[in-house]
Amino acid sequence: MPPPHLQIVARRYIGWMPWAVFAMLAGLTVTAWWLLNAETERTARARFDRLAERITNTLRLRFNTAAHLLHGAAALPEASEDVTAAEWSVYLRRAAAQLDSGVVGLGYVESVDRADLEAVEQRVRAQGQPNFTIERAGNNPALYVVLAMEPHERNTGVLGLDIGSGTTRKTAVESAARNNEMVLSRRIGLDYEHRKVPGFLLFLPVYQKGLPLGTPAERLAAVHGWVYAPIRIDHLMSGIADGVGGQLDFEVFEGDGTRSETLLYDEDGHLAAGPEREITARDFSARAFHDRQTMMIFGRQWTLHFSTRPEFERANFSSLPAVVLAGGFVLSALGGVLTWALVHSRRRALRLAEDQIAGLRRAEEESRRLALVASRTNSGVVLTDTEWRVQWINDGFTRLFGFTLEEIRGRQPFTFMIGPETDPRTLEAMSQAGAAGRPHVGEILNYAKDGRKVWVELEVQPVRNEQGILTGFMGLQLDITQRKQQATQLREAKEAAERANVAKSQFLAMMSHEIRTPMNGVIGMASLLLDSPLTPDQRESAETIRQSGQALLTIINDILDFSKIESGRLELDHTEFSLRDCVEGAVDVLGPAAAAKQLDLICEIPGDVPAMVRGDPVRLRQVLVNLVGNAVKFTERGEVLVKVRVLAQSAPQVDVVFTVWDTGIGIPAEHMEKLFQPFSQVDASMTRRYGGTGLGLAICRRLVELMGGGISVESEVGRGSSFSFVLRLQEIAPDGPDQASRPDEMRGRRVLIVEDNANSRRILSAMVRHWGLDAVAVDSAASALGQLGGAERFDAAIIDLQMPELDGRALARSIRELPGRTNLPLVLLANPGRKENPGGHFRAILTKPVKPAPLFDALLAIFAKKDGNTAPVTPA
Ligand code: ADP
Repeated sequence: MPPPHLQIVARRYIGWMPWAVFAMLAGLTVTAWWLLNAETERTARARFDRLAERITNTLRLRFNTAAHLLHGAAALPEASEDVTAAEWSVYLRRAAAQLDSGVVGLGYVESVDRADLEAVEQRVRAQGQPNFTIERAGNNPALYVVLAMEPHERNTGVLGLDIGSGTTRKTAVESAARNNEMVLSRRIGLDYEHRKVPGFLLFLPVYQKGLPLGTPAERLAAVHGWVYAPIRIDHLMSGIADGVGGQLDFEVFEGDGTRSETLLYDEDGHLAAGPEREITARDFSARAFHDRQTMMIFGRQWTLHFSTRPEFERANFSSLPAVVLAGGFVLSALGGVLTWALVHSRRRALRLAEDQIAGLRRAEEESRRLALVASRTNSGVVLTDTEWRVQWINDGFTRLFGFTLEEIRGRQPFTFMIGPETDPRTLEAMSQAGAAGRPHVGEILNYAKDGRKVWVELEVQPVRNEQGILTGFMGLQLDITQRKQQATQLREAKEAAERANVAKSQFLAMMSHEIRTPMNGVIGMASLLLDSPLTPDQRESAETIRQSGQALLTIINDILDFSKIESGRLELDHTEFSLRDCVEGAVDVLGPAAAAKQLDLICEIPGDVPAMVRGDPVRLRQVLVNLVGNAVKFTERGEVLVKVRVLAQSAPQVDVVFTVWDTGIGIPAEHMEKLFQPFSQVDASMTRRYGGTGLGLAICRRLVELMGGGISVESEVGRGSSFSFVLRLQEIAPDGPDQASRPDEMRGRRVLIVEDNANSRRILSAMVRHWGLDAVAVDSAASALGQLGGAERFDAAIIDLQMPELDGRALARSIRELPGRTNLPLVLLANPGRKENPGGHFRAILTKPVKPAPLFDALLAIFAKKDGNTAPVTPA
């Protein structure tokens, strides 16, 4: 494996690999294509050159053939000085059989002096050509007369022609004579088959024998004549291109230039038309190759231009390079893609391998940590097989129980770790959980190797393999011996404390009881003493004894009650009682105290409150007395309202709420919490002022709770407090007729209620209306007088004694003075404890808080006797 830094570099650049492969293959492809192209071109070029050469050679060959014919023909005049036209004809006819390659005939031209023209004509005519006439144009001293031409059918009009009459011909013919060589004329128009055909004339001189031929002039002078051949360009050239398979096009120009006017022949005719101009490479740009050569033909220079034709390209340029290029690119792309796939899969494999290595490392780390934990922890760890046979333990296990792995391997823990005090139920639960493959957690007493007892918190977990099959158990044991011991000590201490507390309460209860008996004796004796004649000092001392005794007794009673409750010795009564009587009785107890403070003490018990219930009337009364007592105690002005109402009813059970509401000093919010705790008072200075032990509310709460209810308080400092408790009582169905039935005597009677306290007024009104009376309630004496001063009928008036402006008694007097009201029956509501003398105006005097029963009786008595009798029922 390469070193890591190289790996990183390799990884970084491996992404470029597919591109590199593609580029390389593409490069190779282009190179191959280029080489192949070059080779093809080279081969084609060589072939082109060969074909061009073949054309040149063919052309030369054709001229050579013509030359041979001429040389052959020249043999005749050389052999005979006077060759006749007829002889020429015979000879040439034979030679003409071999005419080819554009040579359209063979002729003989003789140099004739102008002076000899006639003679020659005579001679030729004589030799069988009667129409022979020599062309006589110009004034050349010598005329070059065509004497013979074969085949003359095809070359008519030539006989008798003066070759020297045309400059071109003259130049060529004389040049041949001067130089003693075969000379080709420049292009001329050949009369052929009655039309002008471009062509040349090829001349070979024949000299007279015996004359010097050293200089051109001598040769010209010694010339006898010429054999010549007219050559048609088109025939000369025809078939040459076919000889190269039509693959090459060629043009022939006269001279060494390539101007269009010198064009002799154009194989494919593509240059033929158009004005005169220079033919350039541009005219061949579409062709693969073109080339130009010059050649000398019998004294004439020709320029040949070769170029390829599509046939050449087809034959010589294969599509191989293109195929190689295209195929190469396809292969390059394939190579790139393949490399990409390889790189990619390699990368994926690498990543996978890295992930796996990382996972392995983590797992290794994890198991190292776990091993560390298992070996270092103070908890004992034990691994067993499915039969609970020990397979492995940690050091903690050895530390905890003293056993080494060697000692206990293969043994089941419950055969050596339990003892007489081990709870068999725990073992049972554990083995059941194990059998069900469930975990088990519990405490168990184990025994160490040395017999020491070890309490452990044991957690047994089933161990499963990857297929979820149970392979054994793992036990984790945490030493809780110390904790157990502490718990035991704590429990013992608590029990001891509880026992001591009960003993204390019992002692207190007993002591209170024991104190109460002599205390009653003290108070009783003090009362007796007060009834006897005493001096004022003695009376004051006796009164102090009695009051102090009473206060002490209250405290003792509280303590006794409280300790009774605390020691759990208070037993509740379960008797039938009248709820109304119980509540009214409790309120009555506080009547005098309230009256002494000029407080309105009102009791409201609506008609739907069950009359008879089952419960503990004594304890209910105790709670009410306590709450009303507190209300009166902590209220300086205003009223105390005791209200009973039904909260919920599901016969025979009824939940009744008792509320004691006052307009007293109130309780600060922060004190409400501990109000119901024993010996708690809001303010110590209050204790001095109002007395008390701080036990009252604690007793109330415990009593209410004992009776199955709950107590709560709402209060606002300076505005008053409201204590409520709910009791669940059993209603007893009334067996007699409703006490509050509506007797006939009462029906339709009108009563005036005069009461300054609004709650009182409301309660009284409701009460009398309940009996079928018609009630008008007013809040002051003045209003009452106003009502009674009118003409309205009133059958009775109920008057509160204690009112701010005019009290009840004074009002009664005023009423009596009203016309028609002198006999109006009046009922006075007086405060308790005060000896009221109604002064004869009142038919009944009732004590507040007014209870329904006495009021009902009093009103019934008034209306039953209502026959105009005004005599008061109450003695004055
Ligand atoms: P105590 O014997 O002192 O009256 P309680 O347990 O009956 O003991 O009352 C505890 C304290 O709760 C009282 O000292 C007083 O401060 C406060 N408290 C009780 N009832 C009222 C009330 N109606 N209005 C104002 N404060 C009250």
